[in-house]
Amino acid sequence: MTAGSKSAAEVSRNIQLRVDAELTWLLYRQAGFGLFSNFVLALILAAGLWTVVPVRANLCWLAAGLAVTVLRFATTWYFVRRRPQDAEHHVWRRVFIYEVMAAGAVWGAGAWIFLETNSLLPRTLVIFVLAGLNAGAARSLASVPRCYFSYVVLTLTPIMVRFLQLSAPDGWILAGCTVIYAAFLLNTTRLHHGDMYKLYRLIFENDELVTTLSDAKRRAESANQAKSEFLATMSHEIRTPMNGIIGMLQLLGSSPLTLEQAKQVEVAGKSADTLLRLLNDILDLSRIESGKLEIEQIEFNPAEVVGEVVALFDTRSQAKALRLDCRLAPGLPLTVRGDPMRLRQVLLNLVGNAVKFTDRGGVDIEVESRVEKTVRHLRFRVRDTGIGIPAEIQARLFEKFRQGDNSMTRRFGGSGLGLAISQNLVRQMGGEIGVHSTAGVGSEFFFELPLPAVEPGELAKAVPAPAPQAVPPPQFHGRVLVVEDDWGNQRVIESMLRRMGLEVTIASNGLDGLELVARQSWTLVFMDMQMPDIRGSEVTQRIRALGPYAKLPIIALTANARAEDREECFAAGMNDFLAKPVRLQDLQACLRRWIVPPPAPGGK
Ligand code: ADP
Repeated sequence: MTAGSKSAAEVSRNIQLRVDAELTWLLYRQAGFGLFSNFVLALILAAGLWTVVPVRANLCWLAAGLAVTVLRFATTWYFVRRRPQDAEHHVWRRVFIYEVMAAGAVWGAGAWIFLETNSLLPRTLVIFVLAGLNAGAARSLASVPRCYFSYVVLTLTPIMVRFLQLSAPDGWILAGCTVIYAAFLLNTTRLHHGDMYKLYRLIFENDELVTTLSDAKRRAESANQAKSEFLATMSHEIRTPMNGIIGMLQLLGSSPLTLEQAKQVEVAGKSADTLLRLLNDILDLSRIESGKLEIEQIEFNPAEVVGEVVALFDTRSQAKALRLDCRLAPGLPLTVRGDPMRLRQVLLNLVGNAVKFTDRGGVDIEVESRVEKTVRHLRFRVRDTGIGIPAEIQARLFEKFRQGDNSMTRRFGGSGLGLAISQNLVRQMGGEIGVHSTAGVGSEFFFELPLPAVEPGELAKAVPAPAPQAVPPPQFHGRVLVVEDDWGNQRVIESMLRRMGLEVTIASNGLDGLELVARQSWTLVFMDMQMPDIRGSEVTQRIRALGPYAKLPIIALTANARAEDREECFAAGMNDFLAKPVRLQDLQACLRRWIVPPPAPGGK
């Protein structure tokens, strides 16, 4: 139980209190008209019996009736105006019961006095008035049966006694009728009260339920918010040292090493990559689950995305002596609108699995296009001749953390998140993913996405050839300022940039960075976002506000890799965005965008 939540007993006590208070409130609320009609009836009775009973007795009775009515009216008026707290209701209930008893006693006394006459009309009038009063009170006093019971006893007992004074058997019969009448009224009131009680209990239980649900919803929302913030922080905290590890390993890998050292660096690099992939998967999943994953809508060439994925697995499939083929059906649009990054992520998962779980044969990737109800759909297929998936496992394959079996996990590794994420991504892009597989023969994963073509045009060409890798780093000229507070990351980016021929100066916080920009001239600035003094976005805004630096390229280099972080950077006036851990290739590509490399020696 949390500090803010109530125990079941407490909730039940609270509901009971509210029901009792409401029933007391009802007593007062319904009293108004009853009081008025009571007094009018008293006047009628007194007037009707003016000549029959002694005037003094009549006037005394009327005065007593008036006094009780005024008292009850004043109490009711005060109660309705003040509407006391629920906790005070029992005091007010008691006051009401005493006043009703006083009224009942006045009416009982009246009956006793007026029934002393022998004439028929006054007797009948008294009996009718009292029977009517009791019938009316059966409704208005039903919320508290105890109150009604006192009223019935006090008003009808004198009548009964008067009847018993008559000669038998008439007196007995009339007294019996009075008892039956009273019992009938009391029973009706009891039933009415039961219904009212149930109704109010239900209303307040429902109320309590709604409050509890809204509380739970509020708590869940705040927990979700806390989770998102925690993930964003963790993501930043993990990416920062990962940038140091991966960057340094890349630098180390490209320096002269013995064969053994090169192998060790490669293993360390692969482990760091795996760790980063796992981190990204977990972050993706949590983003998907909290509904924070955004799907972009931009124009892209689907064949290019497929080509990149194929290129990425080229080396790995060759190392396993696997065939890796790609077939693009004719009629594929050149440009579609959608999210190329998420499409690439799904394809990477599927092709990665296909290569991972296949030892012999190969992997085929196919892309087809079809139009359904004027919307173009692209169908992607990744077929392998690997170990296949037993039918009983296929049904649960897309659940998170679900893997084939434990022996397989040990043999092939993996977190069991890839397919769950792929399914979520495909669904968010408006498609569906599925699998056909036979154990020992192979598997085929397929998905279809609605990807509207942007302009008519077809791509009949084969997949673009993978870009040649492992070329020596291009050389640039210029002075680069790196605003970065983390010592490890300073060393990584500094070494990478120096290796590409650039002069590098480090500013360890935002204000130092600002000062250096104002004092010297720079070709380009790399800007971290989260720093001990001011955020990178603010440093950028201040640089832009300085005036002469409107055109200075400022590139975010940050471990805050969410879409909103990217938006913040661009909104602050930055020109580009690199997420940590940054790789040499990404850094080179970025520099190529912002610094023109000098012409190669001997070139024109
Ligand atoms: P991971 O591969 O990280 O374990 P996935 O969610 O991508 O997680 O895959 C879940 C499981 O599905 C894998 O552990 C494997 O048992 C099975 N699987 C996925 N793709 C294939 C495939 N192409 N061939 C055989 N089994 C596969």
